[in-house]
Amino acid sequence: MTVGIVTGAARGIGAAIAQRLAAEVDRLVLVDLAPELADTAVEISATGTEVSPVQVDLTNDDGIAAVAAALHDEPIGMLVNNAGITRDARLVNMTEADFAAVLAVNLGAPHRLIQALSGRFDQGAGIVNIASRAYLGNFGQFNYSMSKGGIVGLTRALAIELAPRVHVNAVAPGLIATEMAMGIPDDIRARMIEAIPMKRMGEPSEVAELVAFLASARSSYITGHVHVIGGGRSLT
Ligand code: NAD
Repeated sequence: MTVGIVTGAARGIGAAIAQRLAAEVDRLVLVDLAPELADTAVEISATGTEVSPVQVDLTNDDGIAAVAAALHDEPIGMLVNNAGITRDARLVNMTEADFAAVLAVNLGAPHRLIQALSGRFDQGAGIVNIASRAYLGNFGQFNYSMSKGGIVGLTRALAIELAPRVHVNAVAPGLIATEMAMGIPDDIRARMIEAIPMKRMGEPSEVAELVAFLASARSSYITGHVHVIGGGRSLT
């Protein structure tokens, strides 16, 4: 009996990852602060996989403890740290609150969750941390870029520390069609799409396919890497 954990599973990329991982584990623990998590959980249970929704805020201690408590005694086969937020502003306009909020969700939560669960991983388990192509730097997103650069460092360091039991990778998506991407003003989003060689946004299911491979034992010799999925747009 193995369990998989997906954070930020209520919608978007996280919901697609949860759908895809349902075929790979016996039980899924799905985590999100949004009440829509219950709908995602019902949808996935219809596939026959046991689902345990945990509706909590991952930036506080109770939230992390609730995820650990949902595990019973099964070993963890897969952990996907996907929950993330943006609070964009240029340097001069960035508030301390927005700066701190992005680091707390995007970087603090993955680190605290992995730390809380570190003794619970199965042999051959996979951790996938969702970074972003923005780790390379994006205008008006220095807090987000910092958080995603931090996730890359966390991934690389823990790949060394948790080997050989666990393999740890980061996935860095480009522009993916979710509510987060729809929050970008239309004209800016259109320009971003123009710069993508594939001339479209990625689909959450396309990210989920890569994550499923990296979280599984099929990729057990791949660890400590950043895997970009961006329709051909990489460095600019
Ligand atoms: P989304 O906003 O659609 O979903 C994010 C989910 O995380 C939401 O359901 C939200 O409720 C949850 N969440 C936020 N804060 C939380 C907290 N404190 N505790 C628990 N849950 C919390 O976003 P998405 O587009 O699906 O993005 C998922 C991940 O992919 C994020 O880490 C994001 O940075 C990354 N990403 C997205 C894109 C994109 O273009 N959409 C590109 C690159 C990377």
